Amino acid sequence: VSLEVLEDMSRLEKCFPELGIHYRLIDKIGEGTFSTVYKAECVTGTIRLDTEVWKSPPLKKNRGNKVPKQKNALVALKQIYVTSSPNRIHNELNLLYMLSGNSHVAPLLDVLRYQDQVLAILPYYQHADFRDFYRDLPIKGIKKYLWEMFHALDFIHEKGVMHRDLKPTNFLYDPFKGRGVLVDFGLAEKEVKTTSKISNACPCISTEKVLVNRNISKRQNIKGAYPKQDQRPPRRANRAGTRGFRAPEVLFKCTNQTTKIDIWSAGTIAFSLLSRKFPLFNSPDDTDALLEMALIFGSDMMKKCAELHGCGLEINLSNSSISTSCNLVQTLNDFLKFENENGCFPPDSVVLDTIKLFSEKGDKFVKPIFEEGADYEAFKQELENYNDHKFIMEVLLAALQINPSKRLSAKEILTLPFFQEVNN
Ligand code: ADP
Ligand code: MG
Repeated sequence: VSLEVLEDMSRLEKCFPELGIHYRLIDKIGEGTFSTVYKAECVTGTIRLDTEVWKSPPLKKNRGNKVPKQKNALVALKQIYVTSSPNRIHNELNLLYMLSGNSHVAPLLDVLRYQDQVLAILPYYQHADFRDFYRDLPIKGIKKYLWEMFHALDFIHEKGVMHRDLKPTNFLYDPFKGRGVLVDFGLAEKEVKTTSKISNACPCISTEKVLVNRNISKRQNIKGAYPKQDQRPPRRANRAGTRGFRAPEVLFKCTNQTTKIDIWSAGTIAFSLLSRKFPLFNSPDDTDALLEMALIFGSDMMKKCAELHGCGLEINLSNSSISTSCNLVQTLNDFLKFENENGCFPPDSVVLDTIKLFSEKGDKFVKPIFEEGADYEAFKQELENYNDHKFIMEVLLAALQINPSKRLSAKEILTLPFFQEVNN
């Protein structure tokens, strides 16, 4: 622990008289725009806030979320900055409280307030940095990671909550235990359900007067440039999240965002794990982010997506790497070829096998056949891996659907054959 961190911690302990009575700060474990997170130890062995949540039977049955009843239990202390609006702080704490009681979501153990300072107390979860394992998590490990993540999403989505900021730093994963916990509800929101009056259109078109007036086909014909004087009011929508993980409908400022935005983010994480490329998307702004998506899905698909949300999209095809149509499998393939040729990609059997399996010729990766006298266990393993590589593509295709209404829910994704082994 550096001197700077020690000073920081003693400053916090001073400004929170009550903090030191219950907890002893150990280290600083995270620092962001809206908060600082500390690792601490429970010194009294009792929780101040004796909420009903902790008495309810489902929690007791759960593995994972152990209420630190005993002395020395480790907790994470999230100091939410005073620069956050009271509404924002209330929203985060309220959602955390509401979502307590599932082993895949970090429960709120306690809240300390002193004047304008607020501290949320959560159990401490041992986890590894995504950057330390995404390159070599084997296919079985990827399966467990995603299974844990989709379970967390299923739980919060069932409660009508969208996380809005799903990314590896907000999903604490322990690759040794194969356990994952969703944290950080700082941007989370309750989903507002609306249905469209126009068939095959996103409700964002019919719910916005502005957009009904918008002549979509006219807008699509704009060649090369947008009108200089656009009288229409700018479109407003929540675009909270992190670059690289935002769903296409968030980029198009769709006003009808649903829990499916989290499924998209989970899909980009799955793609990262399979392609061993992180971050997958890296554009600094929303326009470039759309171009990056066009690289994977083709410009035609992105134009259709724009249309779905009442927008127009022009992509200059002089950029040779963007084609009108492409697909996920082909792109995964191209990614690897590029990386391999440039010598910066560690050849990895998981991905190479997938590529072989899905290459257009499809002749390189053949289903293993058991030959007499061969090691049966080894054959079984080979066959399982073969199936895993085949089935994970279904997960990717389900989660990375451009159209949110076609994107599967977490519950549906968990029933796909890829997860059968873990479901049993
Ligand atoms: P922010 O809003 O600043 O992103 P987070 O809630 O995401 O705050 O926490 C920031 C970081 O602190 C996380 O990425 C994680 O490394 C660490 N952290 C947060 N909560 C816990 C916890 N319960 N156990 C262990 N580490 C945690
Ligand atoms: Mg975070």
